[in-house]
Amino acid sequence: MRQQGSCHCGKVRFEADVDVSSGVACNCSICLKRGTVLAFTPEMNFKLLSGENDLTDYQFNKKVIHHTFCSTCGILAFAAGAMPDGTKMRAINLRCVDGIDLDKVKIQAFDGRNH
Ligand SMILES: [Zn+2]
Repeated sequence: MRQQGSCHCGKVRFEADVDVSSGVACNCSICLKRGTVLAFTPEMNFKLLSGENDLTDYQFNKKVIHHTFCSTCGILAFAAGAMPDGTKMRAINLRCVDGIDLDKVKIQAFDGRNH
């Protein structure tokens, strides 16, 4: 399913083929504070439509994930990382997908704090 979405101010816009019927609410140190609901898709299914120069890349801990947020409004619309086999992935913040109805998203808890 092709989806579009953006940060709050609209500078950062993306398009992605991603299943929005379910998402992950993680309890790791950053997801807990950020409140993101994430869905994952290979990087080849993701396209940044605008805002490349508006993204700030935040990294911590092992620095394997790029937490790219909009430098104007602070919203993280997506993050970038890789699977253990090296496949590059994007984590889409379902809260930033255009027209999303979170009541229709099956939200699964992920114990990221202990992974
Ligand atoms: Zn923004």
